[in-house]
Amino acid sequence: MPRQTTAYIDLEALRNNYRTACARAGSAAAMAVVKADGYGHGIAQVALALADVAPKYAVACIEEAEAIRAAGISQPVVLLQGVHACDDLGDCERRHFEPVLHSEHQLDWLARFERSGDFPRFWLKINTGMNRLGFRPDDLHAVMARLEKLGADSRLLGFVSHFACADDSNSPMTATQTTTFEAATSSWPELMRSVGNSAAHFIPGQPLFDWSRPGIMLYGGSPIIGKTGPELGLEPVMSLEAPLITTRVVKAGETVGYGGAWIADQDTPMGMVAVGYGDGYPRHAGTGTPAAIGGRRIRLIGRVSMDMLAVDLSDAPAARAGDSVELWGRTVGVDEVASCAGTISYELLTGITRRVPRNYLKHLA
Ligand SMILES: *Cc1c(COP(=O)(O)O)cnc(C)c1O
Repeated sequence: MPRQTTAYIDLEALRNNYRTACARAGSAAAMAVVKADGYGHGIAQVALALADVAPKYAVACIEEAEAIRAAGISQPVVLLQGVHACDDLGDCERRHFEPVLHSEHQLDWLARFERSGDFPRFWLKINTGMNRLGFRPDDLHAVMARLEKLGADSRLLGFVSHFACADDSNSPMTATQTTTFEAATSSWPELMRSVGNSAAHFIPGQPLFDWSRPGIMLYGGSPIIGKTGPELGLEPVMSLEAPLITTRVVKAGETVGYGGAWIADQDTPMGMVAVGYGDGYPRHAGTGTPAAIGGRRIRLIGRVSMDMLAVDLSDAPAARAGDSVELWGRTVGVDEVASCAGTISYELLTGITRRVPRNYLKHLA
């Protein structure tokens, strides 16, 4: 029998979070961001669970878009990183993938592209201050002239930009980027516009234009510094659970785990849980990081090992081997664990390794 360590995925919660994104997007439509294997939840299952409500998906790269097609889904898929080779343009056209072109060399590929059909539909990325990808606003007229010369302008869907600091409601950067984006694109009112990751859905008065791009909020993680997903009205989607495999009392003065990093100051009931950094549980989560057993909160003690970690059972004296421990889920939020580990829910969710089976809970009407 396999160990019971499992990531339970609540697809109804995912659908509710998508509905929340739509409600918060106002008149913008929401493309469901399902990159990185659906933020670790399984791209095919996540995409299928949203297939009757999401008009469009967004992924990072073409392999991820192919995974959506392999699941039998026909909606357009935006490639947020564009294409990585000229040849991919033909596949984009045939498969209804919409690359976001961000660099001059990708326009060269459009020029070189030996077409059997049309150009793919595509977007242009505008660099409004994130400074990762995109054309500068000042260069946009020249870029548009080049597209016209290539005869590709009729396939341009619109403009995309990305916020650097939308998670921080005190930052003036989002407003500055929005203004820059509006000004840069105002000469082409007939084209569509998309800014706005999850965080932007929670900024009062933030324009989202035609398409928003919610990612982490679909999975119940918080996009806002200092708030948890549930505090923002989001439902946890993944519940990471693992069994207690032994319990014992650690005597006062004894240590637990590698480096003897935790020392019992009194006799302490403890349990070993069959999950570790080999499963994607963060090794940086130290003593005091919350977990739960039977709906009761407990805490980690000592260092996380590759295949197991230790918990203090003082607050769950009835716990015994075989009982299931929630590492994150409905009782302990993934945002809480992330903050104890010095990271964000995105990294924890996408970091769950292949060793952990995903088990899909589906109570769809
Ligand atoms: C990943 C990504 C998103 C989604 O971001 P979240 O913070 O997860 O909502 C949106 N747009 C772009 C360009 C992205 O790369």
